[in-house]
Amino acid sequence: MSYAIETIAEYIGARRIGKHDAMIDWLLTDSRSLSFPEETLFFALVSHRNNGARYISELYDRGVRNFVVREQDYAKIKQENWEDLNVLFVANPLQALQKLAEIHREKFQIPVIGVTGSNGKTIVKEWLHQLLSPDRNIVRSPRSYNSQVGVPLSVWQLNEDAELGIFEAGISEMGEMDTLQRIIKPSIGILTNIGGAHQENFASLQEKCMEKLSLFKDCEVVIYNGDDELICNCVMKSMLTAREIAWSRTDMERPLYISRVIKKEDHSVISYHYLGMDNTFCIPFVDDASIENALNCLAACLYLMTPADQVTERMARLEPIAMRLEVKEGKRGCVLINDSYNSDLASLDIALDFLVRRSEKNGLKRTLILSDLLETGQEPLSLYERVAQLIQNRGIDKLIGVGPELSLCASCFEETDEHYFFPDTPSLLTSEVFRTLRDEVILVKGSRIFNFDVVTEELALKVHETILEVNLQAMVDNLNHYRAMLRHPETKVICMVKASAYGAGSYEVAKTLQEHHVDYLAVAVADEGSELRKAGVTSSIIIMDPELSAFKTMFDYKLEPEVYNFYLLDALIHAAEKEGITNLPIHVKLDTGMHRLGFAIEDIPKLIRRLKNQSAVILRSVFSHFVGSDSPDFDFFTRQQIALFTKGSQELQNAFPHKVLRHICNTAGIERFPEAQFDMVRLGIGLYGISPIDNSIIHNVSTLKTTILQVRDVPQEDTVGYSRMGHLTRPSRIAAIPIGYADGLNRHLGRGNSYCLVNGKKAYYVGNICMDVCMIDVTDIDCTEGDKAIIFGDDLPITVLSDKLDTIPYEVLTNISARVKRVYYQE
Ligand SMILES: *Cc1c(COP(=O)(O)O)cnc(C)c1O
Repeated sequence: MSYAIETIAEYIGARRIGKHDAMIDWLLTDSRSLSFPEETLFFALVSHRNNGARYISELYDRGVRNFVVREQDYAKIKQENWEDLNVLFVANPLQALQKLAEIHREKFQIPVIGVTGSNGKTIVKEWLHQLLSPDRNIVRSPRSYNSQVGVPLSVWQLNEDAELGIFEAGISEMGEMDTLQRIIKPSIGILTNIGGAHQENFASLQEKCMEKLSLFKDCEVVIYNGDDELICNCVMKSMLTAREIAWSRTDMERPLYISRVIKKEDHSVISYHYLGMDNTFCIPFVDDASIENALNCLAACLYLMTPADQVTERMARLEPIAMRLEVKEGKRGCVLINDSYNSDLASLDIALDFLVRRSEKNGLKRTLILSDLLETGQEPLSLYERVAQLIQNRGIDKLIGVGPELSLCASCFEETDEHYFFPDTPSLLTSEVFRTLRDEVILVKGSRIFNFDVVTEELALKVHETILEVNLQAMVDNLNHYRAMLRHPETKVICMVKASAYGAGSYEVAKTLQEHHVDYLAVAVADEGSELRKAGVTSSIIIMDPELSAFKTMFDYKLEPEVYNFYLLDALIHAAEKEGITNLPIHVKLDTGMHRLGFAIEDIPKLIRRLKNQSAVILRSVFSHFVGSDSPDFDFFTRQQIALFTKGSQELQNAFPHKVLRHICNTAGIERFPEAQFDMVRLGIGLYGISPIDNSIIHNVSTLKTTILQVRDVPQEDTVGYSRMGHLTRPSRIAAIPIGYADGLNRHLGRGNSYCLVNGKKAYYVGNICMDVCMIDVTDIDCTEGDKAIIFGDDLPITVLSDKLDTIPYEVLTNISARVKRVYYQE
């Protein structure tokens, strides 16, 4: 749904300067999430840490023309030559955003579920979506967009096709819920539970509970746990007019009576009584939190009159929502569970439950490394008494407490078999207790300021002394090297981070590129994209090879697919329509001579008809790929490709009112065919420091290095390695290094064909390269065990290896296996 800019100005009571017509589809508060600049309205939000006005000129450069700002901020940044702007002046951009969302919400007469509570909001929302979406078009909050900013952005997604909305509301202080209530206007309210999170700004749990319940003031029905005394009291006191569906495991008089819950090994069986009927269903979870979440969902499904047999069928297929507990193999037989999420009692209990089940599986000792719990708003002594009780109940064998508060309350933990306390993280790391952890399942749970990442890092098993060192600064230098080749500064850049960023490791690379404001990232498959999203990358991401089985992942993580034929396009539209998705940006590939994937130029009229006929997807860009832009041998062919692309892409653009971005250049194309840079270019190998034109190194990014394990003298008549292939021409000193073909060191480099560098000198590979180890000749090199060996890097270009192997550097880079640890640095 779009609104004219003048309508929005009127809605939010803004003074407007600029007279340009604009239709607004997208609201933006974080410059990193920009995808459709022309149709975007940016709200320059002001917080104590940041002022959105700082990003206006960057956004202007990226094509945004519509802004909501405070007068005083705009005066500071106004530039003379900005004439094509619409600026809406308001006293408070956040309130303007909220007001706009509120008016937008009023246009929909559909049921809306509002979910609030201390834990489980996101899971309940996502599970409700899993349970209800087969029958209706649902618009819901993305991930956990539940704040004063997130809620308006979520509600803004409501469109003509929506039949049900599901939105989360989260608050951290008094008075916030009132605003969220006006924006969400839920007709169905769910209160998941009330715990200690975000307690610091509330006088009591009761006060927080009452504040949360104010979300439900105009609801038709309110769903909550009828066995929770605090919640029941608060519901009574808040005098809601809504019908109540309180569920209870003990009170048969409650509207939804849970008659039985039986936990089996990997699922729970739940029986319930509702409106005179008895039914039973299973969920594939056994922990208490999941059962509570499922019961809240059950009540909502029943209220929406989902037939009991459908509830049963869909409950059995519930999928877990991304676990935030990370399990790693540790040193000395330990298993590490890393929970850096948040630290309140409820999440501690969930993590302990998880720890217990892990330890049951392998019979290991149970250890908890815990920091002070901050921001719970509770008095330390009573807080840590509760913690001690939880630890006791869960049968934890060893507690290692870190922080001044825990140390002070040490006496609470007398009951635990072993207990140790440290004032801070460094003193833990240097302690005997820490160095002697052995055969234990260790839950590491700390408030962020304790920086427990170093604790897990120290404890994690390091199998290997071989690393790929990635110089992120050099990569940025390469980016700028190619940016300087763009004819027009507004030309956008897609950075190719497929295949783990050409072996360099996609997350760190993507994060760095995002900080340098590249317009798009591109990966091969949806899983690469979702990994980036989970790791916090917010840039637009293109999926070059969108497998049919991965559509859901793409939708959930806002990934933008490439589309190359009708089969894929039809399937995509169909799937998007089913999920109630509209305007999913897609990138259409044309075949101009590669004959790999892509629509033929003759297909374009049909393609236009298909795209016009629907609203699930929207054409964001059209592109093609060069066959041989790196070599003058193919220049005639390349020019033909450009001509064909110019014609085809123009035809597509002419068919649509919105701007369609056009792009054809890869790295070599940027340099050799600047006239074909169009609106956007796709930078790949050049970013990683290798010029595709002459194989020279621009700024070296990656260094593959390892450590000498052993050095020995070998008589001339002996041989080295498998099949006696390492013949010697003199008495030799031979070093073994822990890298083999399983790490990506190609076997054909062995038997003296190539070399690595030890202390700056060439050391040739002797004999066959083995799976995990290989041997090098260091007869003339002064070196000992522990010295470094450079496989490739600054002084030994990777292209030496690729030339010897008769291949391209791309292959050598992407063959470096995942077990080689990537280490990043910035000069
Ligand atoms: C990988 C890839 C690129 C990048 O190519 P380089 O030669 O590494 O610059 C560009 N476009 C597409 C479609 C690609 O798959």
